[in-house]
Amino acid sequence: MSLSFFHRIKRGAARLSGIDTLREKYTYATDPVVGHISQSRVADRWVKTTCGYCSVGCGMLIGVRDNKAVAVRGNPDHPVNRGKLCPKGLSEHHILDAPGRARQPLLRKNGVLTPVSWDEALDTMVARIRDIQQRNGNESLGVVGTGQLLTEETYTLGKLVQLGFRTRNNDGNTTLCMASAVSGYKLSFGSDGPPGSYTDMEQADVILLIGANIADNHPILCHRVDRSPGTKPRTLIVVDPRITKTAMIADIHLAVKPRSDIALLNGIAHILIREGLIDRNYIERHTTGFEQFAEFVSAFTPAHVAAITGLTEEQLTRVALLYGRAKSAFIGWTMGVNHSTQGAATVTAINNLALITGNIGRTGAAPFSITGQCNAMGTRESGFTSSLPGYRKFENEQHREELARIWNIPVNRIPTSRGLAYPDIIEAAVQGRIKALWFVATNPVVSFPNYNLLEHALRNVEFLVVQDGFYPTPTSEFAHLVLPAAIWGEKEGTYTNSERRVSKVSPVVAPPGEARPDFDIFLDIAGRLGMRDELYPDWTSAHDAFLEFQRVTAGRMCDYSHFTWKQIEDANGLQWGGPSLYRDGIFPTEDGRARIHTVPCDPFIEQPDSEFDFILNTGRTVEHWHTRTKTAQVELLNDMVPHAWLEMNPADAARLDLKPHDRVTIRSRRGAVANVELRITGIVAPGQIFMPFHFPETNSNIVTLGAFDPISREPNFKQCAVRVERTPMRDRRPANRNYERK
Ligand code: SF4
Repeated sequence: MSLSFFHRIKRGAARLSGIDTLREKYTYATDPVVGHISQSRVADRWVKTTCGYCSVGCGMLIGVRDNKAVAVRGNPDHPVNRGKLCPKGLSEHHILDAPGRARQPLLRKNGVLTPVSWDEALDTMVARIRDIQQRNGNESLGVVGTGQLLTEETYTLGKLVQLGFRTRNNDGNTTLCMASAVSGYKLSFGSDGPPGSYTDMEQADVILLIGANIADNHPILCHRVDRSPGTKPRTLIVVDPRITKTAMIADIHLAVKPRSDIALLNGIAHILIREGLIDRNYIERHTTGFEQFAEFVSAFTPAHVAAITGLTEEQLTRVALLYGRAKSAFIGWTMGVNHSTQGAATVTAINNLALITGNIGRTGAAPFSITGQCNAMGTRESGFTSSLPGYRKFENEQHREELARIWNIPVNRIPTSRGLAYPDIIEAAVQGRIKALWFVATNPVVSFPNYNLLEHALRNVEFLVVQDGFYPTPTSEFAHLVLPAAIWGEKEGTYTNSERRVSKVSPVVAPPGEARPDFDIFLDIAGRLGMRDELYPDWTSAHDAFLEFQRVTAGRMCDYSHFTWKQIEDANGLQWGGPSLYRDGIFPTEDGRARIHTVPCDPFIEQPDSEFDFILNTGRTVEHWHTRTKTAQVELLNDMVPHAWLEMNPADAARLDLKPHDRVTIRSRRGAVANVELRITGIVAPGQIFMPFHFPETNSNIVTLGAFDPISREPNFKQCAVRVERTPMRDRRPANRNYERK
């Protein structure tokens, strides 16, 4: 039960008794920025910043009065959102004085998390990790960061972990959402980097969205696919097994069978080649692999693909012709593609379509991964996970030498290969090879698949540090040390959004209690390691990290050397690489050509059977952000969607004799989630069910599969086999742990 519940009870009592007439709320005043406004929201000053939730990267103005954020509005001059904000953005300032913030360091003593000073907390952390590393080797430390940090902080953390603690085992929660896009781009184009921009969606003749429910997950992007009178005529095609809100606004919805997207993409390529709707000139000048590809997709006839996808041959042909005849065609995708054991391969299949039709490197044409978190892109640029900073490769000697020169360290200090990816860090903790874990601004107890395995890992390590802006979280329950961190609105730096736009993030208020910016925590730890001068010479603020990152990225694809913090802020964000990458058709591969890959279509791993007869799909809702660490504390958002639900087709509900609002249990081979509200709806097809993954008390990751893409290491969150039962009365308790653990 959240603290805001008691706050509401108290406030309600005051209103009923007549003590509180809400006078401040209903008295109006005039604000110079927003005009007529409630007296309670009149600001002394407005701070320009960038939303800290999703990767759309909306610009916003936060109104501040008496060191308190009292109002928010979309920045009307910002090119991304043009003054608009979604429900999360419109209420984001409320998280700054929300209950549940972490305020002081906590160290577990005699089994209890006990308040301690920062000195004791960080001295203990360094001593415990050093001791564990001395006994077990440097790589017994694993670190998992986040797309919630500023780019300057992610870069600083990477140096601390890989050059300070000298472990390669550094990854981010971005591996749970964007790793497949990164791997797919590298395989096709030789580098990460989304080739297009949001304006391409407005300029395209055809927009193909695959596994991308932007209406819930990237709501402000919906304005880019507006086809109302006065906008450019274009066709929106949405590929999704579920009739999402985005599918509802499409011109064509392709309700494919789960995980048949590769067959669909190969089948479209088959028709494009057969109909001569390919760009032979582009293929010959800028790609390799087309002949093998053409032979490979010759087997993906419309009849064959129709059988795999569940679509009709007419639907396939219509969509292929629309895509092939478009002057410019845009493909966007998100988690429906990435959350798969074949995610990276599926991304290359998307890139194939763009390459064989020349739909890349020009206005309105791009294969475009819509990123997840506000700064997932910044983590990709700042590296130290699957690549080195500035999109450099661990394996490339020249890249390592460039960095060694900038950092003024011997080149042999820089690892020659990446360390363990996030799932492999967890697996190594289960096996006892990782003995110390440090989570920064992430909540794996809710977000990581196959909870039981994760819990084993968390209980198995000798020392677990959880650094977060909120306390308690489901993950901090397991911590030996909790470090309270500042959050969005309390620190300064930059985020990069999905279209490579680097935007300024500015502090609005001071952090609560003893909470400190992550950047300050990292520098303090480096000092206690005796490495601050070497790693961060003369650094005093995140701006020093930015200045070094400019030198690190100079001449690279993600080149920050062209802009300053001030220029970024004044321009409301600046894109590195301009609106389109690869305009000259030259790719950062050895021969300058993009690669066309042959991508087989394999069935997903855990197929339904007589015992577990449903395919479970998980996803998000617009009101909440990931594991609700933040949005559960925003009364407005929490009241709109306070708990999870399960969507089931009416035919299946009738077969199971279930009614709307029944409480059901979802059971897989790994565990069960009980007491979920049933919603009976044709939004999901027979045999498929859907539930949101945001809710710790009905944690969908109790049942999800611990299977990962062999290339990107991204989890297969989207499909697993489950059965659904009515929840027995004894399990319909309002506790926050309605699940069983094996
Ligand atoms: S769309 Fe994303 S970036 Fe924009 S306001 Fe909503 S959560 Fe923030």
